[in-house]
Amino acid sequence: MPALLSLTDAPLFNIWEHLLGDLPAHVSLSHTCQRLREVYSKDDSKWQAALFSAGYGLPLRRMTPIDGAGAVSGLSWRRLAVCLVGHAAICEIGSCTRANACFAQQYAQLPYTRVRALHPRHPIEFHPLYFYLHFSQNPQTSSSQSHHRRSISAHLPTPSPSPSPPPPPSIPDAVSILLTHLPTFPECRYAQYGPLCTHPNASCAFATFPPVERLEFENGDGEVFMIVENPEGCTILDVNRALAQLIPFDEYHLDVALTHYQELALTSGMSLSQYASTISRDRGFLDDHEYPFLHHIVSSM
Ligand SMILES: [Zn+2]
Repeated sequence: MPALLSLTDAPLFNIWEHLLGDLPAHVSLSHTCQRLREVYSKDDSKWQAALFSAGYGLPLRRMTPIDGAGAVSGLSWRRLAVCLVGHAAICEIGSCTRANACFAQQYAQLPYTRVRALHPRHPIEFHPLYFYLHFSQNPQTSSSQSHHRRSISAHLPTPSPSPSPPPPPSIPDAVSILLTHLPTFPECRYAQYGPLCTHPNASCAFATFPPVERLEFENGDGEVFMIVENPEGCTILDVNRALAQLIPFDEYHLDVALTHYQELALTSGMSLSQYASTISRDRGFLDDHEYPFLHHIVSSM
């Protein structure tokens, strides 16, 4: 170790670059000793490169009246890497902890060049989580209440053995999107029922390969119905939150959310307003989550 520690920064960074997208190795190395901790605290862009090579970016923080439009998270890239490695050790959902297994080979062959604008017709491949999270798994029942249950069970499923998802319908399903924003049962914080933003690995996975800074979504008539932008690369959470803005504020979707909140309040032995106050304190890894319809439901009680 003394010989290693007497090296200048440059060869130590060379070791770093050979690890590419192996985030657990980067985090372990940076915790090995004070010298390595100092070296790897010097340049946060090295951490960004490591995350990029593992297929992860940093979602933009939700806009608030205080921090304004297009807010950038206060998380450093180093802290994000530690967060992802830590979450992978406790999360029970394979499609979160190994979110980028599907693109590992592609990332291994992609030199880190930072996210850049691609030609509009450049081929991109959507992350399978985009389809799993946002499209009805059972279109025949999409208008019935039974769909509610089915969508929960399909919320963050184990990846299918098939690498290519089925061709998507033109517009994602509002109830499926809504369920990715609703809270979890208290006894299974990291299990299947958490809102997406409590799963940083699934949230930070780039929404496409290769990662892009801008995505335009068209409906079946070729009309753009949604634009997602993140200068450091659009992530699954960026897309998820843009889709959530499209959920109609109507009686049906309000009722889906209300039923979900009531069930969880009952399970927790709390009144609905007590439960609302409790969950409002858990705002996800970016500390900015807002539970859909909750403010409206509580204020109209
Ligand atoms: Zn998770």
